[in-house]
Amino acid sequence: MSRLLSSLLGCLLCLLSGPLFGDEPHSGLDPDGFDKTVRPQDDLFLHVNGRWLLSTDIPADKSNYGSFTRLDDEARENIRAIIEEAVKNPTDDISRKVGDFYKSYLDEARISSLGLSPIQKQLDAIDQFNSPEQIARYFGAGGVQGLPGPIGFYVSVDDRNSSRYLCHIIQSGLTLPDRDYYLTQREDHAAARKALQAYIARLYELAGRSDGAAAAEAVIRLETALAGIQWSRTELRDAEKRYNLRPTTQLDQIAPGIPLKPFLEASGVPDITELNVVTPSYFENLGAVAASAGLEAWRHYARFHLLDAAAEYLPKEWVDAHFELHEKAISGVPAQKPRWKKAVDATSGAGAGDFGVLGEPLGQLYVRKHFPAESRKRKQELVGNMMKAYEISIRQLPWMTAATREQALVKLGKITTKIGYPDVWRDFSKLEIRSDDLIGNLLRSRTFEHQRQIDRLNQPVDRSEWGMTPQTVNAYYNPSLNEIVFPAAILQPPFFDATADDAVNYGGIGAVIGHEISHGFDDEGSKYDGDGNLRNWWTDDDRKAFEALTSKLVAQYESYEALPGRKLNGRLTLGENIADLSGMAIAYKAYMLSLEGRPSKTLDGYTPSQRYFLGWSQIWRRKYRDDEMARRLLIDPHSPSAFRANGPVTNLNAFYEAFDVKPGDKLYKAPADRIQIW
Ligand SMILES: [Zn+2]
Repeated sequence: MSRLLSSLLGCLLCLLSGPLFGDEPHSGLDPDGFDKTVRPQDDLFLHVNGRWLLSTDIPADKSNYGSFTRLDDEARENIRAIIEEAVKNPTDDISRKVGDFYKSYLDEARISSLGLSPIQKQLDAIDQFNSPEQIARYFGAGGVQGLPGPIGFYVSVDDRNSSRYLCHIIQSGLTLPDRDYYLTQREDHAAARKALQAYIARLYELAGRSDGAAAAEAVIRLETALAGIQWSRTELRDAEKRYNLRPTTQLDQIAPGIPLKPFLEASGVPDITELNVVTPSYFENLGAVAASAGLEAWRHYARFHLLDAAAEYLPKEWVDAHFELHEKAISGVPAQKPRWKKAVDATSGAGAGDFGVLGEPLGQLYVRKHFPAESRKRKQELVGNMMKAYEISIRQLPWMTAATREQALVKLGKITTKIGYPDVWRDFSKLEIRSDDLIGNLLRSRTFEHQRQIDRLNQPVDRSEWGMTPQTVNAYYNPSLNEIVFPAAILQPPFFDATADDAVNYGGIGAVIGHEISHGFDDEGSKYDGDGNLRNWWTDDDRKAFEALTSKLVAQYESYEALPGRKLNGRLTLGENIADLSGMAIAYKAYMLSLEGRPSKTLDGYTPSQRYFLGWSQIWRRKYRDDEMARRLLIDPHSPSAFRANGPVTNLNAFYEAFDVKPGDKLYKAPADRIQIW
């Protein structure tokens, strides 16, 4: 989470292909899912996905379902086969570890017989709390094992000196997904708080304690106070506000009343002279919140968070309780995943930035089987085409002056690309995994990762590192390394189909590549230079012109309503919306360049330009449960899929030409109102 916050400014898209023309290309479209009673000029998303939406139910164990989740399911099945082979036939240290961890997850009889004993030591320590310093040490040591607390800690590249690593502290410590769940009077938030209250009481009951009602009250009061001093997610996006380098001689001023020194010592941090305080006002106020809560409330808070973090890995009644709050009450998911799926996800990771216990070693086995060596070269060529189109576009931008344009081209020229899988794999030989100790495995795994982070301090920056596993269906831009990264698992249909016609591949993976490049030039990414440093390379006038354009995009997305009465947050989603708009514009240019000299063919009754836009809409095929949509509207920097399909095209002249969009059509904007950024 923290790593994502700090460095993965943008993600959720991905990749593409080389020269893609096979002998008899098919269109790559799925017209069976189209709803032709809806005109693309009125709603491109529904035109392409309407019948699919009507005929598809979200699987009972999911909060949403669509192109991404379908590929996630396939990748999980592939990983499952690799794991099961490792269980049957462990041939080396890694396959033995993979098999043993998976077995430890599936051994419910053993888990049941152990009860709470795997976390008894920590529970006993909490009972002994009698000073703020002890509490600070507990949370520092807990962080080493991946346990949550009110102080978030991580190591990542220094935003203003990309040649070194730096320690960061950041606000943390809420159970519900966002501070708003504690602070608003909205009905769904009140319901979530009630579910949290019942959950705390239930965990205490399962732990054999009689003070669950008091614990629930104390924990919710404390978390509400923490929520009250936290920054919003929109504020957290601001890279300049997040950068507050402070000498460690000032720890007492950074967080008055909070024993930060013991916290850092217990976190295993060696002697450091400075650290970055991501959310200064939170730490300035934390001491007052901590003092007014009192020691008894902190004991409840620490105990509950320990039980909550462990619940998924404890006996079945704990797992059920965890599901009731975290998935059912919050996201509206009706049924739990089967245990094998949870076991695969815990081993392999379950999404962006989640490495599981052995995600990268599994990725190594995954690409050997599912990512042919020649794939990398073809994708690299496609990225090269996109870079060329981007360069042409930057040279022609009407709103930018020559000085800033030169700098933008320098930055573009310094972007590096990673495709498929890491060149250097992490070494897991020192991680101990046992087939009969699930919670021990998880704690050792997190400690192992924490130590890896700590060991990087005073080491050169590792430019070979990946922030996602190869089996992740996603992609990202990392501003500190100025790199775009495309894991193997996203290089498949509907994003990229080597047997399909080019138009849909450019509308799919092409636009995704354009999206990731554009993160280098979105409202936050554009504050970093080509060497990954937070440094202003803009003239004041150009920055003003850029912000005038992006403000229009904020207004456009804030007019969209995703649920009755619930509009999009245009500032939270701005970076992703810029990336979608610019990625679409550039991929279309690249597609047109690729067509030069060749006649354009109609396939499935659609022209090449039409198919480009239809292919874009097709990758956003997805539906959400209402509770999940409400959660995402608060926390997700990405707009909901329907608006990702429809939002960018209203600004692209090529869309108007492709479908002859006219005044009166629902997606029509007057030419003067169309937004072109990159
Ligand atoms: Zn993105």
